[in-house]
Order: sequence, then C-alpha cells, then structure tokens
Amino acid sequence: MEAGARRFFDTPVEYLKGVGPQRAALLNKELSIFTFGDLLQHYPFRYEDRTRFYKIAELTEEMPSVQVVITLTGKELVGAGSKRRLVAYAEDETGKMELVWFQGIRWVQDKLKAGVPYVVFGSPVRYGKKFSMAHPEFEPQTEANTKTGYLQPVYPLTEKLRAKYIDSKVISKLQRELLLLANDKIRETLPDYLLKQHHLIDKRIALFNIHFPKDHELLTKASQRLKFEELFYIQLRLLMLKLVRQEKSQGYVFNDAALLTKFYNEFLPFPLTGAQKKVIREIYTDMRSGKQMNRLLQGDVGSGKTIVAFVCMLLAIGGGVQCALMAPTEILAQQHYNNLKRYADQMKITIALLTGSTKKSDRNSIHAGLQNGTLKILIGTHALIEEEVKFNKLGLAIVDEQHRFGVAQRSKLWGKNSEVLPHVLVMTATPIPRTLAMTLYGDLDVSVIDELPAGRKPIKTIHRYDSHRLQVNGFLKEQMDQGRQVYIVYPLIDESEKLDLKHLMDGYESVCRAFPDVAVSIVHGKMKPEAKDYEMRRFVKGETKIMVATTVIEVGVDVPNASVMVIENAERFGLSQLHQLRGRVGRGADQSYCLLMTDFKLSAESKKRIDTMVRTNNGFEIAEVDLQLRGPGDLMGTQQSGILDLLIADLSKDGKVLQKAREAALSILADDPTLSKPENKVIRDQVELFRNSAMNWSRIA
Ligand code: ADP
Ligand code: MG
Repeated sequence: MEAGARRFFDTPVEYLKGVGPQRAALLNKELSIFTFGDLLQHYPFRYEDRTRFYKIAELTEEMPSVQVVITLTGKELVGAGSKRRLVAYAEDETGKMELVWFQGIRWVQDKLKAGVPYVVFGSPVRYGKKFSMAHPEFEPQTEANTKTGYLQPVYPLTEKLRAKYIDSKVISKLQRELLLLANDKIRETLPDYLLKQHHLIDKRIALFNIHFPKDHELLTKASQRLKFEELFYIQLRLLMLKLVRQEKSQGYVFNDAALLTKFYNEFLPFPLTGAQKKVIREIYTDMRSGKQMNRLLQGDVGSGKTIVAFVCMLLAIGGGVQCALMAPTEILAQQHYNNLKRYADQMKITIALLTGSTKKSDRNSIHAGLQNGTLKILIGTHALIEEEVKFNKLGLAIVDEQHRFGVAQRSKLWGKNSEVLPHVLVMTATPIPRTLAMTLYGDLDVSVIDELPAGRKPIKTIHRYDSHRLQVNGFLKEQMDQGRQVYIVYPLIDESEKLDLKHLMDGYESVCRAFPDVAVSIVHGKMKPEAKDYEMRRFVKGETKIMVATTVIEVGVDVPNASVMVIENAERFGLSQLHQLRGRVGRGADQSYCLLMTDFKLSAESKKRIDTMVRTNNGFEIAEVDLQLRGPGDLMGTQQSGILDLLIADLSKDGKVLQKAREAALSILADDPTLSKPENKVIRDQVELFRNSAMNWSRIA
C-alpha cells in the first residue's frame, strides 16, 4: 500500500463526518476504534433480513427474524401476574397473527393504533394454528421503511454506546460515509493467483458488501474473502516465525542411545503403545535434526505422557546435557517428580525437585549440582525460571500444561542456555481442537498421543438425577465393599462463594450420615495447605474411603484405587472441566465409573454437555463440542491468549477456511520463503505493514 493510502486509514476516526471528539472518545474506549482503518474493520456480526416482506401465510417456524406489513385489528391485556401480557391482533390479506409483549407493555400499548399499517420485524413462532411474534420491532409503514432489498447490518456494541444513542444504524451511517471516502484508497491485499485459486472476490467489493450487502450471495462471498485473508495472514505470520527460528536456531544433536537401550532392555515397566512410539520417533527426529525442537505434545489424561518425557530425557542426557521439567502447580511438580524419580533411580540418574517450598539448604545443593553439571534432571514450578537457577548445560526443556504459563515465562526457561537454545517440548493434557491448535500453537510442531494404554477399561459414565440419591448411595456402598475408593466433587467455581462452601459442607455431612461406618476426607481451597495435604495423604493411603472435595483435585491426584467419581451439580461444570475430573479415575485395573448428578431441570446446553460426557471418553471429541458450545474465547486455557480475538473469522466455525489458509501459507513459504518473488509483493507489503503497526498483530506477536 502506498504511503498516501496508509495515511488515510491511519486518520483518527474523530475526523470522519458525523463522529467528532466526543463520539471518537467513546468509540476509542468502548470498541477500540481509533482510526478509519479500525472502523472499516469493525464488521457486523449478523444481518437482519430486509431483502423482502413476507406474507403471513408464508411464515414458517424455521425463519429467523423477518419483516411483514400488517394492520392491527385490536389489542388486549391477558393473563395475570408474571404471565400478564399485551396481545395485539394483526392481519394482512393472507392471514392473521399475533404480536406479544411481556415487558414495556404500557409504552407499547400507547403506540399501537388499530387500522394503521405497520412494518413489523421479528421472529415467527407457531402457537396452535397461528403465528406469533414476541417483542417485535414495529414502525408505522412509511415510504422509507417499505423500501426492500437490503440486509441490515448489526454491529457489536456496548451498553455505554447505546446509552449515547450510538446504535447499529449510526455505525452503519458512519461506514457509508467512510466507504465513500475510502473507495479509491482500498488496495488489494492478496495476490491475484490466490484470489483465483480460492475463488475470492476482491478486497474493495468485499469491504463494501460486508457493510452493505447487495444480496445473500455477495455477503457470503465478502465474508469468505475477509475470513480467508484474516486467517491467511495469521498462519503466514506464525509459519514465518517458525521458519525464522528454524533458520537461526541451531539445536543440539543427540545421537547416543545407550541409556535408552539400557532402559528399554532392563526397566521399561510396560510395552509402549503405538501412539507413544510414534511421538517418541517424532521427537527423536527433531532432537537429531540439528535444529532446535519446538514441539507440542498433546495427550489426554492417562495417555502416558510421563514415560515419553522420561525417554526423551534419556536421549538428551546421553548427549551430555541437563533436562528441566516445569509444571504449573506445586502438586503437579511433586507428582512428576515422584513418577520420574522411580525411573531415574533405576537408571542411577540424578534428579531433584525445586519449588517455592524447597528448603534453603536443599536449594543450595540443587544450585551447586546444576552449575557443575552433576544434577541431570530438575523438576519444578516456576521457581525454575528464577534468576539464581543456572544450568551448566540445559539441553531439553519440558513444559507441562503450557497454557498456564505466559509465553514470556516459557522463553525465560529456554533463555537459560546462552550458546545453544535447548530443545523445547510443551506437554498438555487439555485436548485442543485442531483449528485452535493450528492458531494457538501454529508456530509449533504438534504430536498427539491418540491412544490409551491397552487393557484399560473405558470409564463408564452415567447420568443420574438428584432424586436417585438412594440408589446412587447403594452403588457407592457396593463399590466400597469391593475395596474401591470414591471421589465426590462439588462445584466451587469461586472459592470465596459462601453458598458453594455451604453446599460442600452440607454435602459432606450428608455423606457422613449416609455412610456412618466409612472414614471420609474433605478437601477444599479454603483449607490450610498442611491440612489439605494431610487429608489428601490419608485418602492416598486408603485410610479414608471417600474424598469429598472441590475441583482442587482436578489436577495432580493419582490414586489408582479410586475408581468412582461422583460429580454433584454436574450441570454447573464446563465440558473440559468435567472431562479433567473424570480423568482422575480409570487409572487402575478395575472398572471405573463417573456419575454425573444433576437436578431434573436442565438447560439445553447443560443437557448437551452431560450427553456428550455420557457418550464419549475421547478428549478431542469433547473439546470439539465444547468449542461449538462456547466459542473459542472461553475454552480452557485459551482465555489469556489474545490470538483468538479475531476480527471476522470464528475458529469454532471456520475450520475449513482455516485449513485452506494454512495450506496456502505453507505452500507459498515453501516456494518463496523470503516472499521476494514479484507475484508475492502484495503479501510482503502486507506483512511489512503488520510489522510496523500495532493493529491486530500486536496481539499475536
Ligand atoms: P498422563 O498422560 O496423564 O500424564 P501418565 O503418564 O501419568 O499419563 O500415565 C498414566 C498411567 O498409565 C500411569 O500409571 C502410567 O504408568 C501408565 N502407563 C503409561 N503408559 C503405559 C503403557 N504403554 N502401558 C500401560 N500403562 C501405561
Ligand atoms: Mg501427567
């Protein structure tokens, strides 16, 4: 884009006719719209269909909001109390219908006049033979509102804006003003050959039609084009990051497999699954490539990531370097340490745990061992990235549950080695749908353990209503008589919520009453850490049979003998959280159960969540449903990542476009990594522009 055009789009929005300093301040604050460019990229999130008027006889239940012209024949108040409503009777030459208001009755009542034609806009619902619209928009028919042929954009807004009378119509007016000025300044931002290959319309037409769609077809094309562009540049940028890093960053080459062979021959506790072998091969290939590894290892709870991590450490240690594993919580770090120590001891490899609560004297010897290189494996929390922790030669950095760490924290860990960057393996037990992974981790290579160890019995998940409490208790008793242990989890979304705490305590008491001969533990976030630990240990040792807890047990606990998980008020948990909780059982040889307890009344969404849990144990499938239900912004682990604030694309719906955009970016970079071919000049300019501006990109870089 030449300088003139760029300056135009950088013009403060204040200078657009109809904006001015006050509205500009509001647009800045409420919608982060600062410039002409920002405003133009403030896209509608839906459109009201004003392309035509419908006749009453044409209405169907499947229709979204539509407009009809009707005449009122009368109105009356019906019902009493909360059912009180205003019903207006309407007709056109093809039939009769009703308009209904439950709120703002008085205001509406005064405005509705019998015998006058109105333009009504709303969503038709059938009651018996008649159609009805609840809370429709209505205006007396005028020449202006009888004009058809347009889709009316609806823009994202805030309450504050509405209070200042900035609504979609106002934004739409501003867009019209802006588009007139911008018309000859809008430049194509994708190369010709890409437009042709992917049947995309040009940028100017797309921008016009996204704000003022000519018809449904052009709207679809406009949105396809803009989504493709948005996703393409994100993918291109991520892939370029990866390319640059690969070019620049040399990696250690590990070739000595002696330790590995020894471990395989003498200590391997079970045959590895096919999926474990596959990811180990992928990781080994990276660690021998001479380039620094940056790989994401995804695997559901219980898929066996620990042994994979250990085997990779062996290859690194065989190559004369040290390894670090960073976990997000103390409890998880401790558990990793316990698990890995068994293997490390067998192999006579030194290993230590460093967390916030490590004693000073232990700390000193850990520091010394790290610096002189005698300590080979260090496990810990973010204590690992503190200044005074210095490795002799860190060659492999493993980060568990990456999303809980910031990018900056991660790079601190690999910054610990000045000569050559360590290989980096990021492990996560939170399955991420492909579309999200491609964006969140688009600069990493991805390995997936998509198979559970053989012989593991799938957890049986059962939904029960609270009214079945007695049967459920009978079942728990049966299980405990067979020697099993039981978790009972209560929702405590916010640990400070008094009511939740009361539910938990009530629950604990009724459990104690129902099982008077059974020792019961209780753990929640309000307890002192020592008390929590004490209760946890009693349960681990089997001294207590039931653990009543909040979601604090979500991560970290591994009690193979606990084979029943009861989740109370299951409708209050998100899908991924339910799945994580369920993952606490099914770790031993016995048949495990997950009981989802709910009230009889469930919202459609809660029902879908419960049904999904009952239907499948597959974390990826569950993550996919979660993504559809909640959208990408709310998925576990993605909250802090601004990457998902897209302007127009939606990762829960645009998987196909994303796939195409990524493939396009990949093949362009494979052919022309520096984007120096003339046909790619448009792309290079655009990347350059992103680099120089805070817009959009700052969120990703
Ligand atoms: P996660 O991926 O959740 O970290 P873990 O590494 O903790 O899973 O493994 C879960 C359990 O499965 C552990 O008890 C581990 O010893 C066991 N395990 C891992 N791999 C296998 C395998 N190939 N065969 C049998 N058991 C395995
Ligand atoms: Mg684990």
